[in-house]
Amino acid sequence: MTHWLFTALLLLATPAASWAMPRHSPVPGGVAVVELGTAGDARPEASFNDLPQPVIRHRGKWVALVGLPLDASAETHTLRISSAAGERSLPLTVRDKHYPTQNLRITDDRMVTPPPELEARIAAEQQRISEWKRHYSTGREPDTRFDLPAAGRRSARFGVKRVLNGEPRSPHGGLDVAVGVGAPLRAPAAGTVLAVADLYFAGKTVVIDHGRGVLTLYAHLSRADVAEGQSLARGEVFGASGVSGRITGPHLHWVVMLGGASVDPELFLPAR
Ligand SMILES: [Zn+2]
Repeated sequence: MTHWLFTALLLLATPAASWAMPRHSPVPGGVAVVELGTAGDARPEASFNDLPQPVIRHRGKWVALVGLPLDASAETHTLRISSAAGERSLPLTVRDKHYPTQNLRITDDRMVTPPPELEARIAAEQQRISEWKRHYSTGREPDTRFDLPAAGRRSARFGVKRVLNGEPRSPHGGLDVAVGVGAPLRAPAAGTVLAVADLYFAGKTVVIDHGRGVLTLYAHLSRADVAEGQSLARGEVFGASGVSGRITGPHLHWVVMLGGASVDPELFLPAR
């Protein structure tokens, strides 16, 4: 135990510099990149808050990519590892991060407070989204070096705290890309279409499963050109941007989900 603790502290003290993407950012809404030792035959399993986390092979090592939810507290948490050698716990320290606040004024009441008759629909859709987030498939090895899925300016960053007409709302769980209606959307890496849906807030939505708990979601589409279960190559067009759902202007809302948490998509993009 002491040995493991010591090893873990060493690992956590030195960010995995050889690792290109995602970048190690152990903050709420970030990703902890944790080396688990030399990659032998059996892949270890990692879990955080009882949710399985991606463990991938990289340069002869097993590496856990831990998705840290935006509401994770800044303290030392526990990462549980299960391998042929047995069970062990590694300390995982989450550092505080300040996200800016954005005040929004919206005059359309239906966007601020949906009508009561839609409550059941919205609750069912939130349940679907949380199931997509926790989806964990083992058929594909995820490639976590992503390309920006649409050609546009990054208009709203991940994690911004939102205040809508004076009322605090959920923080921004994705990255917005400023594109008009009809811009092609491309798979940021290879994957399989997990879902094509039409949601009250998110509008027309596509979810891509990249494997092992790495998923991406695209909202407010004008068109989805794919079916559930379809394979996508990196760069393949799967739909077009739009203004569907409850938004004030066209853009792509892009979410990266890792081990059950929405995390900052920019950690998966090349540094600018
Ligand atoms: Zn957004």
